[in-house]
Amino acid sequence: MYTCGPTVYSYAHIGNLRAYIAADMLRRVLEYNGLKVKQVINITDVGHLTSNADTGEDKVEQEAKKEYKTAKQITKFYADQFIKDIKALNIKSPVKFAWASKYIKEQITLIRRLERKGYTYTTSDGVYFDTAKFKGYGRLGKISSGKARIAHSLGKKRETDFALWKFSAKGEKRQQEWLSPWGVATGPGKRPLARRGFPGWHIECSAISTTELGQPFDIHTGGIDHVLIHHNDEIAQSEAAYGKPLANFWIHNEFLLVDDKKMAKSVRNFYTLADVVKLGYDQMAFRYLAIAGQYRNKLHFSKAALEGAQNSLDKLRGVFNEKTKGGKVAQAYKKKFLSAINDDLNLPRALSVVWDLVRSDRTLADKQATLLDFDRVLGLGLMGVKPLKIPSEIAKLARRREIARRAGDWRLADKIRIQIAKAGFAVDDTNRGPKLRKK
Ligand code: AMP
Ligand code: ZN
Repeated sequence: MYTCGPTVYSYAHIGNLRAYIAADMLRRVLEYNGLKVKQVINITDVGHLTSNADTGEDKVEQEAKKEYKTAKQITKFYADQFIKDIKALNIKSPVKFAWASKYIKEQITLIRRLERKGYTYTTSDGVYFDTAKFKGYGRLGKISSGKARIAHSLGKKRETDFALWKFSAKGEKRQQEWLSPWGVATGPGKRPLARRGFPGWHIECSAISTTELGQPFDIHTGGIDHVLIHHNDEIAQSEAAYGKPLANFWIHNEFLLVDDKKMAKSVRNFYTLADVVKLGYDQMAFRYLAIAGQYRNKLHFSKAALEGAQNSLDKLRGVFNEKTKGGKVAQAYKKKFLSAINDDLNLPRALSVVWDLVRSDRTLADKQATLLDFDRVLGLGLMGVKPLKIPSEIAKLARRREIARRAGDWRLADKIRIQIAKAGFAVDDTNRGPKLRKK
């Protein structure tokens, strides 16, 4: 399974993270069914330009200039942040995070193969894929060719053609560039000068996925916005080169929306996982929110939705407040859960099975055992929930403190807080009211 990864020039927003949660859900469902999954996620550290039309600046180089850092410092920092985010969301790690810049040789080999087969042409700014030569271009998502792009890059024959390799511009000081077999002839009959350059954005996914997983591999995932250009281009390159499908199945998640608009960096309507925490919610509440919608549907993000997700998560965690032994997985519920997740990952229906179970008259031990089994798919980290024992006198003190606070009696509130602290507990005033925890 190959999952298109992030371009590491800034923090991932939770819309991006929805894409990785969706892929994780698919992986977990397959594993729950007894299959083994080998997943690769790429890290785009070079070649992703600011415009989808193969023009503009390299996003990483641009950010490096802005932050007065090297490209390597930028990509390492944001890749680390990304990996932290996916760990916090309990997204399973792939066997490999494959960095685009580590596969330059494979990308050049693939482009040369396309060149030999007559699928490319060279302009003054790069080597392009000639989409007119590839029968059925735009097959994925039934995109009609010719409509996929908005602007022409220098010398491109048609809108849908795309860069396989870009030459570093004259005088451009790129930090990440490599010698390539391609260049521009300096005069009639002269051999082209080898020029420095860098791969186009799409070629990395074709080269990495087939190097690591073979061709065809089973499943390719990504966000819905990748269908139009990125994935159709991956298909064109790989199929033209090897005459066989790139992937057997393509699975795309719909967008996370804010106020009915796609969450996007360019619109500046985005939240990061750190923002979720600043709002007073658990990172895992976002995971709950994300899995409560089916991947094919748009999902609305709002504070109210996050609040609902947090409440649901707290209730599920609450089932584990008491320790039990010897519980058995409730088979009737498991059957229903399995049929829901195997029905095109119908997680909303699977979660309704979860709540039916929680409200049922099964023993607490059975509920816990069943939820832990389901959590292999849900990934909410229920296994790690530690029973929190709050002595009744501490709970009473916390209630008294809250009454004092609401009445504006800060002195009394503070006195009670100290009393609570002396007993080994801390009280946090969150957006969602006071919360007790062990110090
Ligand atoms: P990028 O880092 O821009 O390449 O995006 C990483 C992943 O996030 C891709 O699979 C995108 O399709 C996906 N994506 C971007 N924005 C959203 C969104 N608002 N909701 C869901 N997925 C998104
Ligand atoms: Zn990709």
